[in-house]
Amino acid sequence: MLKGILFCLGLFIGFICLSAPDSVSIPPVVEAEVAPVEMKPSIWNINDSLFNIPAFDLYCGFDQKKIWGLKVDQTKKQDTTLLQVAHDSCDFGSPWVGRLTSDFGWRGSRPHYGVDIKLQTGDSVRNAFDGMVRIARYSSTYGNVIVIRHENGLETLYAHLSKRIVIEGDKLAAGEILGLGGNTGRSSGSHLHFETRYLGEPLNPHDVFEINDSTFKIKNQSLALDAENFIFLKEVRKIKYHRVRNGDSLWRISKRYGVSISRICRLNGINKKKTLRIGQKIRYN
Ligand SMILES: [Zn+2]
Repeated sequence: MLKGILFCLGLFIGFICLSAPDSVSIPPVVEAEVAPVEMKPSIWNINDSLFNIPAFDLYCGFDQKKIWGLKVDQTKKQDTTLLQVAHDSCDFGSPWVGRLTSDFGWRGSRPHYGVDIKLQTGDSVRNAFDGMVRIARYSSTYGNVIVIRHENGLETLYAHLSKRIVIEGDKLAAGEILGLGGNTGRSSGSHLHFETRYLGEPLNPHDVFEINDSTFKIKNQSLALDAENFIFLKEVRKIKYHRVRNGDSLWRISKRYGVSISRICRLNGINKKKTLRIGQKIRYN
């Protein structure tokens, strides 16, 4: 009996051993699945910028800190850029229809980088071309000021507004109201100070527009832009200034640069008895 039991047990163990695999199968290496890092969707990237922001590639950005933004010296411009100003008349909206009261160029001994157009406080001021608001803020000189970047790289600036209606980043169509005319900042009397700029440099609005008595039209549908368009700026940059230091006087500045006191006074719009402030800039040529 015992022999029979032992025999059956032996058979059972033998069966187990025979049916066991002769090698251990190794599971294939599966790359560990890394839990995905939760990425917050980027609300703004370079592709969006190229697509959304006018002339982003030309400016390599959209500076919202400085009113004039990036500055590239256009007086040294080597090439000619053909700017498509407009394709047809509906690509343009007159900022304001009014009398031209002060032109681009020298105003006494100071440069004036725009044109002044008479209006009444509260009159609607309109955006000239399709574009995006780069600056909408208050400045001590410009008052309430709006700067719009356009697709062709031009920027237009609207100053001394009584009210800003748009905010930075707004997309505007030509002719849309951006603010109300006023007399804010360094201004005497309600008017619109209007500038055209290219790569941060002032461009005479008469190069772009035909501005006559109460008319404001596009001069040509395209503008060939080269260094000649910035000749006024070249003149301005030749001006030299003396920074007033402790102990300076008009007599001393006159002797130092060999310029008469009366000429210095004329250049700076001051009289001979003017007390100079330390740090003040006095033009001497
Ligand atoms: Zn002005």
